[in-house]
Amino acid sequence: MRPKVIAGNWKMHHGPSATRRFFSRFFSEFSPRFEGAEPTILIFPPAISLPAAAESRGGRPEIGLGIQNIHWESKGALTGEHSASMALAAGARFALVGHSERRHVFGETDAQVELKVAAAIRESLTPVVCVGETLDERRGGQVEEVIVRQLDAALLGVPEGAKKPILVAYEPVWAIGTGETATTDDVAEAHGILRRRLTEVRSDGFAQGVAILYGGSVKPGNAADLLAVADVDGVLVGAASLDPESFARIAESG
Ligand code: PEP
Repeated sequence: MRPKVIAGNWKMHHGPSATRRFFSRFFSEFSPRFEGAEPTILIFPPAISLPAAAESRGGRPEIGLGIQNIHWESKGALTGEHSASMALAAGARFALVGHSERRHVFGETDAQVELKVAAAIRESLTPVVCVGETLDERRGGQVEEVIVRQLDAALLGVPEGAKKPILVAYEPVWAIGTGETATTDDVAEAHGILRRRLTEVRSDGFAQGVAILYGGSVKPGNAADLLAVADVDGVLVGAASLDPESFARIAESG
């Protein structure tokens, strides 16, 4: 049994002070249990808020912190970017890679996703690889083609024998920030495709070690149903993760 992972992507919200307020309220709302070797509540604040998040989280191993984006170079003349090693030093242990806003707003390509996955693993960050189709691609019957292509590109960045597995988040682009949630049948189908592909490209053992999260308008009212779907190992939450009460309610559904 893979433990359920509840992840919050704060996007460009919550500076350092708001981050401290979030954690104090979250801990008064919810006491995460820690039963495994890996954290099961992941928070991705803006990079500038990572030190505040690390300080507020204290010594609680059940909470993992991540960066929302990294550059694949370790340093250089790359204004505005952060390397994986910098994220690690600021308290991150995870990195979102290929989020749909990075792909569709900032033009991130599959080839860059591969480089970012490789850079994250090289620096001991666990990548959380986001894949998902647009509405046009879904209407055109291309869901499998798109998510398999995106997954394959990311897997090229994972060295054979990598000790820590990656996480994958299936996030249909049309469901992100729109209030539209994929049906549980759509989610089961997409997660099944991803699990099968992980087995085909690597091995059954590898595939079984990869948590596949669903993301797209998850909220307290739908989290339990989504978490009950076959092959859904957790959720990646955007808007509803900004509020400590609502994120706590979602975390309780896991
Ligand atoms: C996300 O940004 O990854 C996301 C799923 O956003 P929302 O929950 O707001 O749709």
